[in-house]
Amino acid sequence: MSSVGEPMRRQARTIEEAAIRPGHVLVRVAGCGVCHTDLGFLYDGVPTRHALPLTLGHEISGVVTHAGAGAEDWVGKGVVIPAVIPCGECEACKKGRGAICPKQIFPGNDDHGGFASHVEVPARGLCPVELARLEARGLELADLAVIADAVTTPYQAILNAGLSAGDVAVFVGIGGVGLFGVQLAVALGANVAAIDTDVVKTERAKSVGAKWTRTIAPGEEKALKSELRGWAKEHRLPTTGWKIFETSGHPAGQSLAFSLLNHGGHLGVVGYSKEKVTVPLSNLMAFDATARGTWGCLPEHYPAVVELIANGKLSIKPFTERHPMSQINTVFDALHRGELKKRPILIPDFEVSA
Ligand SMILES: [Zn+2]
Ligand SMILES: [Zn+2]
Repeated sequence: MSSVGEPMRRQARTIEEAAIRPGHVLVRVAGCGVCHTDLGFLYDGVPTRHALPLTLGHEISGVVTHAGAGAEDWVGKGVVIPAVIPCGECEACKKGRGAICPKQIFPGNDDHGGFASHVEVPARGLCPVELARLEARGLELADLAVIADAVTTPYQAILNAGLSAGDVAVFVGIGGVGLFGVQLAVALGANVAAIDTDVVKTERAKSVGAKWTRTIAPGEEKALKSELRGWAKEHRLPTTGWKIFETSGHPAGQSLAFSLLNHGGHLGVVGYSKEKVTVPLSNLMAFDATARGTWGCLPEHYPAVVELIANGKLSIKPFTERHPMSQINTVFDALHRGELKKRPILIPDFEVSA
């Protein structure tokens, strides 16, 4: 990407093996998922932390081909690269708050990302994957790219919410992130409700275990809330302490999610919107409720997510679609227009000299 709103261009770059930084690895990209954050950078002028031009892409899986000093053990391994790579050494990291590490690397934001044949990243935090186990599930390394953000970010939000078996979990917005969130919450034994404007998406949520689904149109917020309460009562589920997850990234979804907070409730803000929304903030006080944002996912939680996929509790492949990386501008445009119903993964399809 070289400027906001302009099509991305392919640019050749030479990476000398000797120039790979200590503690870093060079990964041959197997696949890189396209996220709404990328759309924000390209179309909405959300600034990248690294100056433009910059290669976007932060949902990356691949194979380590070369390593800098101290990272040689990684060569030959299949990996998922965390979307947020904390430094591991600063005060925030030592307190377990890697998400706010000031030295974190977010590929495709702090440094060149994964819409490329290769990407150089810190070895710290890489998630190794045992390909043989995943192949037995019909998965290839490229399919795992979405773990890097679309799957692990809702996982971190669920951990932050303290979600446990028997809880009511409500997802507002069932795009890629919301759908994976639904599956994770179901895997943890929660009673899951899923809301979207699109019936294809609510049906998909139902197919992966959501017990209550509803499409919503403007003006239906109040009715929805009372139906949802009715469902909880009817099935003797908790009517307080709901865990609400905003995964739409739309102002209307954000308002709706806030309005669903009840006594002792928790709102996890996962989606991103540039727009402002007006909410009765004092409800947090009146309901003794919490609202918390989630920035990425700590690398130490990645293996647990890979494990859920390997043992069949979390299904990713039916909800992603592959496109050649050379079609990046077409895929971005289609996603931006809301025409893609599945998470796109771009597969490098150009010649590279090794
Ligand atoms: Zn993302
Ligand atoms: Zn740090």
